Amino acid sequence: MANILDGLTLSKEIRAQLKERVDVLRARGIVPRLDVLVAATDPASLSYVRMKRKWAETAGMEGESWEINDQTTQAELIDKIGELNANPLVHGILLQHPLPKHLDENAALMALGADKDVDGITPQSLGRLVADLEGFRCATPAGAIKLLERYEIPLVGKRAVVIGRSVIVGKPMALMLLQKHCTVTIAHSRTQNLADLCREADVLVAAVGKAELVKGDWIKPGAVVIDAGYNKVEGRKGDVGDVEFETAKEVASWITPVPGGVGPMTVATLLSNAVDAAERI
Ligand code: NAP
Repeated sequence: MANILDGLTLSKEIRAQLKERVDVLRARGIVPRLDVLVAATDPASLSYVRMKRKWAETAGMEGESWEINDQTTQAELIDKIGELNANPLVHGILLQHPLPKHLDENAALMALGADKDVDGITPQSLGRLVADLEGFRCATPAGAIKLLERYEIPLVGKRAVVIGRSVIVGKPMALMLLQKHCTVTIAHSRTQNLADLCREADVLVAAVGKAELVKGDWIKPGAVVIDAGYNKVEGRKGDVGDVEFETAKEVASWITPVPGGVGPMTVATLLSNAVDAAERI
């Protein structure tokens, strides 16, 4: 039976430390502020943003939410980002994915200043990751790495397979594992013999967006499993991961649950990055 990589408990510890760091900043007259641009038309995004905002407020941070709707033009979006970039009271800017379809998300990310990109997803931040330079790291993979570090999971020389090659999860996760000296393979929708490939992994990361795609018999006995997925499944309460937890936990040595694994670590990492940004002032 696998041990649990408990993201909820670690995220609570990180948030308690954040509160202390925010108190120190406030005593210096600096109130860490994370502003969010979010599609008002996307209920899931609005609910994620509400949760992020609640956690931020608990830590003593401030922030505004700027809702983007079907009438928002590309020029208005870029202007708003420029305004937030220039506002010295704003330390972090989160562009909640996805934006309404008529808007060019890449152009918006290009406009976002790297020093405020606390979600670590602009081309500049990603370039810094590739180049092993200091910068904000993508919150979801960086949160997963923090979890592996906390549980002292050995990574050097291990064979890692990351399923998913998105810019916000799969690719940066693969790069971060590479920095930890894993030998990394990235799988995607065109990968052949995915189950066999997964069975070679000492560390298996699922960032797919397909509920319970990864079954227990895809997992090498004793492997460490990170499930970044959260999926809505009709007839089931709450979020469902990309890994079939019930069968996977019988084979893995360590596993992240959904919920309570990567999700809370993502939010804690985002807020931690925003406080880092405020501390740099
Ligand atoms: P995404 O942009 O849709 O990317 C999904 C990736 O999975 C793509 O690279 C795709 O391959 C690959 N894929 C799809 N079906 C596959 C299959 N049958 N076999 C192998 N690969 C397949 O998703 P994402 O934004 O990376 O998110 C991935 C998951 O993480 C989702 O469940 C999402 O909800 C979750 N997520 C969680 C957090 C968090 O805070 N915990 C944050 C962000 C995302 P192609 O590239 O070939 O299309």
